Amino acid sequence: MNLHEYQAKLLLNRYGVPIQRGVLIEQKEDAEKAFAQLQEETGTTWAVVKAQIHAGGRGKGGGVKLAKNLDEVKTHVDNILGMMLKTPQTPGGLEGPGKLVRKVLLTEDVYYPDPETGEMDTNEFYMSILTDRAKECNVIVYSTEGGMDIEEVAEKTPHLVHKEYVHPHLGLQGFQMRRIAFNLGLSGAAYKSMTKFVNSLYAAFVGADASLVEINPCLKTSDNKIVAADSKVSLDENALYRHKDLAEWNDETEEDPTEVEAKKYGLNFVKLDGNVGCMVNGAGLAMATMDIIKLSGGEPANFLDVGGTADAQRVENAFRIILRDPAIKAILINVFGGIVRCERIAQGVVDAYKNIGDINVPIVVRLQGNGADKAKGIIDESGLAVHSAVTLQEAADLVNKVVAG
Ligand code: GDP
Ligand code: MN
Repeated sequence: MNLHEYQAKLLLNRYGVPIQRGVLIEQKEDAEKAFAQLQEETGTTWAVVKAQIHAGGRGKGGGVKLAKNLDEVKTHVDNILGMMLKTPQTPGGLEGPGKLVRKVLLTEDVYYPDPETGEMDTNEFYMSILTDRAKECNVIVYSTEGGMDIEEVAEKTPHLVHKEYVHPHLGLQGFQMRRIAFNLGLSGAAYKSMTKFVNSLYAAFVGADASLVEINPCLKTSDNKIVAADSKVSLDENALYRHKDLAEWNDETEEDPTEVEAKKYGLNFVKLDGNVGCMVNGAGLAMATMDIIKLSGGEPANFLDVGGTADAQRVENAFRIILRDPAIKAILINVFGGIVRCERIAQGVVDAYKNIGDINVPIVVRLQGNGADKAKGIIDESGLAVHSAVTLQEAADLVNKVVAG
């Protein structure tokens, strides 16, 4: 589950991570009030208007603007709130339709000169925390080259991207925090601030059961504070039961509408780019099914796990969801009758066919295990244009044959 920048900052701040503070604006009329509140709370003269969508690269697409007075705040809020923002990361990229901006965050300006010397002395770093499965550790990835595309830095100057592996049981050690601050070229007060920053950031990553925390830019201010000027956080959905308050932050408007609906029906659905719809019970079998479709020359259109206790109703819901994709050329139903009885699935297929009406894509069914014979009987007697297959390979070959016409 992805969080918006304003939510991520709120969360990180609970763990003591210093952030660029802000006020959320949902209505254009609130711009003036928000600016007043922000100035009161932070003492900032300038402010930054930042579009809140689930995509990075907002700056490049015109979704982050500096405002030097109330008029500019109003103008930028007016322009950004409600716009279709295109960034390299929104669907279809800069050529795509963009994403509707429903909220903006008005933040304090953290790129200010040193109050004592008047000098500008900021530094943009990159820092993220995630799990390295191969190393069986968490890893802190960081670089002096923050602010811009970290992907480009990693590709062109990989030596500038550092990694600090953290053993999940030992936790982040003092020497590791110091090594990070040192490698970022910091000294004095900034060095100390950075060790504290990393420590709190790691605590947030573990405490919130995050799968990713990414701060870009992680800013050293002119007066040697370290603050999260941007933040991206993804939470592990399997741990959300431990974070009921965070689960409520889920913004369904940012999700694929079909995936949202599938979730309501208890279906585990992920939309993909191919043309073979898949309906499978069990995540492992679903992955194997997608693999074999690909190996046989086809392209799966989705991942769909109907669950171990699938019934006729759920099968029908799954059908409707798969069929919503206009790219679908065939559907492969692959169910192993373990807990579930195959004849129930078969009945579901037949019912769905009748209830939904004009299903005009060919369907290949492979029902094996508990109740397979009865299931075959139901399918055969139904008189529907459903092809049966016995082995998984047969099923995949059959699907590719019908897709090819
Ligand atoms: P992203 O483009 O989606 O990654 O959005 P960011 O939150 O990283 O903002 C984009 C850029 O805006 C940053 O790289 C900064 O250069 C700039 N920016 C962010 N906060 C401030 C600020 O407080 N003051 C100024 N002057 N620029 C800022
Ligand atoms: Mn950023």
